[in-house]
Amino acid sequence: MRHGSWLAGLVWLVLLLSQPGLAGDYQRYWPQIQSLFPQAQELGPASGDPPSAPVLGRNGVLGYVVLSNDVLKIPAYSGKPINALIGIDIHGVVRGIRIVEHEEPILLVGVTEEDLARYTGQYAGKHVSDSIRVGGTPAPGRPVIDAISGATITVMVINRVVNESIHRIAEARGLLRAGVEAPPAATRPLWQAHWQARQSDIVMLGTGLVVLLLILLFQDLLARHPTLLSRLRTGFLLYTVFFIGFHGMAQLSVVNVLTFVQALLHDFQWSSFLIDPMMFLLWSFVAVVVLLWGRGVYCGWLCPFGALQELLFRLGERLHMPHWELPQVIHERLWAIKYILLLALVGLSLQSLGQAEHLAEVEPFKTVFALHLAREWPYIAYVVALLGVGLVVRKAFCRYLCPLGAALTFPGRFRIFDWLRRRRECGRPCQICARECEVQAIRPTGEIIDNECHYCLDCQVNYWNPRVCPPLVEKERKRRLRERLGHAAKD
Ligand code: SF4
Ligand code: SF4
Repeated sequence: MRHGSWLAGLVWLVLLLSQPGLAGDYQRYWPQIQSLFPQAQELGPASGDPPSAPVLGRNGVLGYVVLSNDVLKIPAYSGKPINALIGIDIHGVVRGIRIVEHEEPILLVGVTEEDLARYTGQYAGKHVSDSIRVGGTPAPGRPVIDAISGATITVMVINRVVNESIHRIAEARGLLRAGVEAPPAATRPLWQAHWQARQSDIVMLGTGLVVLLLILLFQDLLARHPTLLSRLRTGFLLYTVFFIGFHGMAQLSVVNVLTFVQALLHDFQWSSFLIDPMMFLLWSFVAVVVLLWGRGVYCGWLCPFGALQELLFRLGERLHMPHWELPQVIHERLWAIKYILLLALVGLSLQSLGQAEHLAEVEPFKTVFALHLAREWPYIAYVVALLGVGLVVRKAFCRYLCPLGAALTFPGRFRIFDWLRRRRECGRPCQICARECEVQAIRPTGEIIDNECHYCLDCQVNYWNPRVCPPLVEKERKRRLRERLGHAAKD
C-alpha cells in the first residue's frame, strides 16, 4: 500500500513537471516578470489553455504572463522557435515582452541587445485586441511597429508568436475590449507571406539565375567573344554584390549548411527553409549547379563577398597596385586552412550551434551584407584587413579561409559535367592559363584543380583565342603558310 502511494505520488510529480507552463517555468523568469510588473509581489499558479500565470501585487492580480512557446512554436531563422515572455495587465494592455530563449544567429552575434530591446519595446502599450503588424500603414486596431534591419525573418516570427499569444490569452482570460473579438488566428504559413511580400526580389533573382544558366550553357560560344563575356561577367558581379548581397542580404553562409545538417538530424521542416525566399531559391539553384558544374559557379558568380573581392582586385589593377602570387607549394598548403575551419565548425555545431555560429564569424559576410558595417570596430577591422589583402592577393579569403567554399567542394566532387576544355599542350609546355587563372587553380602540369576553380572562364577564352593559345597560333600560322604557298603555286 505504502509502495502504491509512493508510486502514485511519483507519477503525479512526473506529470506535473512535464506539463508546459506550470508556475515553476514562469518562476525562472521572475526578474523579467518584475521588470514588466514593478509592483509584483508573487506569481500565482499557471493555469488555462494555453497556460498563463497571474502576477499578484499587494492588492490582487496585476496581470498575466505567458510564454509564447506554450502557445505556439514557429521555427525561426535558426530552425528553432523563439520563446518570448509576454506580460499583459488586467485591462488587456501589453506591459512588454522579453525574449527568454532563442538560437537566432543574427541575434546571437549580429543584432545587439539594444536593437532587440528597442524592437520588443514597441509592443508595450498595445492592446490584446489589436492585430500588430511589422511595417505598413497603421489602421484602427492594426498598429504598426518597425522591424530590425537585417533580422527580418526573426522579427516576423516574433511578431507572429506575440500576436497569437496575446489573442489566445485575451480570450482565455476575458481581456478583450467589450464587444470586440480576438482577430482570427493566421492560417497561412508565415513563409507564404514572405514570398508574397518579396515578389519583385524573387523576379529579379530568378532573372539573374536564368542569365547565369544561359552563360553556362553557351560558355563555349561566349568564350569566343571575350569582350562580350568580360562585360557580362563584370555586370553579373556587380549584380551579385549589390542586388544579391547588399539589397537582398542573400549571402549564403556556412551557418546555413550547419543549420541544415542540424535540421536533418533533428526535426526537419521545409517551412523553416522557405521562410526567406531569396535564400531558398539561391540554395536550390546552388545545389543543382554545384552537382552539374562544381562549386566554382557559386564562388565565381553568385557569392557577393567573392564578387566584391574580385571587383576590388580589378580596381587595384587599374590603379597599378602591386599584386602577389604565392609560390604554388605555399599556396597549396594554405588551402588546408579552410578545410580545418570547416571541420572545427561541424564538430562544434554537433555540441552547440550557438558556439559554432560564433566561430563562423570567420566569414565576414554578415558584417558586410546583413549589417552594412554597422558593427563593433573589431568586425570592421577584420573586413578591412580581408579586403585590403584581397587587393593584392586575388580572392585571398576565398582561396584560404572560406569554410563555405570548402563545404561546397564536397557535393562538387559528384559533378556531372566537365565542360572546361584543356589541350594536350596545357602545362606541357604551355603555362599561359596557369599564370592567368584568377585563383591559381591550374597546376603547372596543366590540370584544373576542380575544388579550387571559380569558373571564371578566363582559361576558356584563352583556349579559343587563335592569337593567344600556342597550338591555335601554330595552326593559324600553318594555315596562312599553306594559303601563301597556294597563292605562290597559282602565280
Ligand atoms: S570561397 Fe567563400 S567567399 Fe569566396 S566565393 Fe566561395 S563562398 Fe564566396
Ligand atoms: S581560369 Fe579556368 S581554371 Fe582558373 S578559375 Fe577560371 S575557369 Fe577555373
